[in-house]
Amino acid sequence: MKAVLIRRHGGFEALEMASLPKPKAEAGQVVIKVIAAGMNHLDTWVRRGLPGVTLPLPMVPGSDAAGVIDEVGPGVAGLRPGDRVFVAPGFSCGHCLECFAGNDPLCKDYGIIGEHTGGTQAEYAALPAANVMPLPDGLSFEEGAAFALVFLTAWHMLVGRARVRVGEDVLVHAGGSGVGTAAVQIARLHGARVLATVGSDDKAARLRDLGADAVINYRSSDFLEEVRRLTGRRGVDVVIETIGQETWDRSLKALARGGRMVTCGATSGYQGATDIRFVFSKGLSILGSTMGSRAELARVARLVGERRLRPVIDRVIPLERVADGHRAMSERSLFGKIILKP
Ligand SMILES: [Zn+2]
Repeated sequence: MKAVLIRRHGGFEALEMASLPKPKAEAGQVVIKVIAAGMNHLDTWVRRGLPGVTLPLPMVPGSDAAGVIDEVGPGVAGLRPGDRVFVAPGFSCGHCLECFAGNDPLCKDYGIIGEHTGGTQAEYAALPAANVMPLPDGLSFEEGAAFALVFLTAWHMLVGRARVRVGEDVLVHAGGSGVGTAAVQIARLHGARVLATVGSDDKAARLRDLGADAVINYRSSDFLEEVRRLTGRRGVDVVIETIGQETWDRSLKALARGGRMVTCGATSGYQGATDIRFVFSKGLSILGSTMGSRAELARVARLVGERRLRPVIDRVIPLERVADGHRAMSERSLFGKIILKP
């Protein structure tokens, strides 16, 4: 079968198109025929290597996918060949305190398909049966490959961590990114007013279509000044922080009294300056977030199936052009998700 393979970390040249044996479904596993595989910013880290993390190279990257079940391994109940499914990207031990509490991503054995184990950017993928969920009726395979990781991440940030409420103001950084397009819609669905930043004006109209009330071009204006202007100097209740070092101190200053800043990543660097005075005097909360629980993913899938949340697809390209996808992500020249077709 065709597969994207990373033998060693590096630049775009590290993405090899390989011919691998078709996987077999072992006990507790299913093999899915991948009809669409989603790309994520995480793929970039997997290609380049993560500081302090050893990945199981050589490996097939890819955390999102949708397809049909091709083979069911021994001991798997409730799934049959031909079932339409999407991939639930996270896995955990299932029997520790955090797992019992529904905090799967805090399990010490938590991992992500396509990062800690072989992924979905191939014609077939063998996965634990627990990592496939029914594709909601009416969703295309491309849509099914476009929502799980980013909508789960954004949902947990806004709903699980920040507890966003009707009438609040939310600032979403990088509104055109996968997590950004999800966060704008989820915040809107909860009755918040949404301010979003983008790096180019052509993304602004598309973001307004998704429900953003105000769009700030961070290249032509200072987002902190714009937030102050748009909120009458009050600041926002919630900041969805994904940028890190470049924006951290201003994100904190953009918060209203009692505001919450949630971080799920730091694409520009890990060293953010925190003026502690603001944290205590304004009663701010800084919240970490990674992925989300299985229950949250089921909730997200239902809302996507009901078309109350909309996966945003930038382009659909053949698997062989995976490097073009990486290039687009590094240039930020995309709006929403890139989908690969094996
Ligand atoms: Zn656990």
